[in-house]
Amino acid sequence: MSFGEMTDLPRTLREDLDSRFSLYSTGVSARQEDPDGTVKLRFTLGDGAKVEGVLLSDGDGRRTACISSQAGCAMGCVFCKTGSLGFLRNLNSAEIVEQFLHLRREAAGPDREGPELANVVFMGMGEPLLNLPELRRALGIITDPGGLGLSKRRITLSTAGIIRGIRDLADNGPEVRLAVSLTAADEALRRALMPVTAANPLPRLKEALASYQEKAGRRITLEAVLLGGINTRPRDAAALADFARGLDVAVNLIPWNPAEGLSFEGRPLREPAPAEAEAFSRELARRGLTVTRRLRKGLKISGACGQLGELSVDP
Ligand code: SAH
Ligand code: SF4
Repeated sequence: MSFGEMTDLPRTLREDLDSRFSLYSTGVSARQEDPDGTVKLRFTLGDGAKVEGVLLSDGDGRRTACISSQAGCAMGCVFCKTGSLGFLRNLNSAEIVEQFLHLRREAAGPDREGPELANVVFMGMGEPLLNLPELRRALGIITDPGGLGLSKRRITLSTAGIIRGIRDLADNGPEVRLAVSLTAADEALRRALMPVTAANPLPRLKEALASYQEKAGRRITLEAVLLGGINTRPRDAAALADFARGLDVAVNLIPWNPAEGLSFEGRPLREPAPAEAEAFSRELARRGLTVTRRLRKGLKISGACGQLGELSVDP
């Protein structure tokens, strides 16, 4: 939308508005499309900071928008490209809503006849629960029946496991779906992979999830990034099953998406071998867990999970 398109206004007024105001505080500064149909947009914010958002299509043609909540991320997970950038700043609610609008427009296509967004996931750059006030404001706008009107059930927030944020969400909403990036259920291993564990230890995280579930009554997704040779052993599956006991969860396995320069204990990270991921998945299922595998999308444009923030040159 632009002032120029508001043809019910006199032309001189439109030109005047255009010269003095801007409808968006963010602009799309790059667009990349993967052969698999995934589109990555780079947004340049008012102060020049850059974040990325991704539009994914599933087999049925439904579209999911993956949105960023922060520029960079302070959590420093060793396997994540965004984490390696460090933290720049929180996004404000307008910058979050505008990503939604830009991605919605991308889904609609030039003739505006494409599909509406089926889902929105906060799995882009940053830790959403460390920007909850602005995120709440943005979600209020995105879900307002008199506004953009997206159902809360179609929105998923993914967190590295910020206990205070999970409790805040349970007490004060909004009632969106919750996904927790567990990745390892052994305290020492998780602490090494995800430093956030030190201040948010697993037993307390589990308590917070249990009380969230009691209040919200919804199934929680536990995400696990599979790192070849690191967290895919039978004992890792056992620890994960142990953590899940008593919670209503589905486990979502995400084979690690390569991002350059990331290593663990002096060795470069690697993707899990297909048989390794398969065995891990089977071991979880054998232990009674519901397991899903995330489809890999947007790998060629570094638009897959954990690859955002690649400082590639603008096309
Ligand atoms: N900060 C939030 C949301 C953004 S990260 C969180 O950590 O949950 C979104 C998802 O991408 C998380 O589940 C994270 O574990 C996963 N991820 C990070 N780096 C990845 C990589 N290189 N390959 C695959 N998944 C990755
Ligand atoms: Fe931040 Fe999530 Fe990446 Fe961890 S996985 S560094 S929390 S964006």
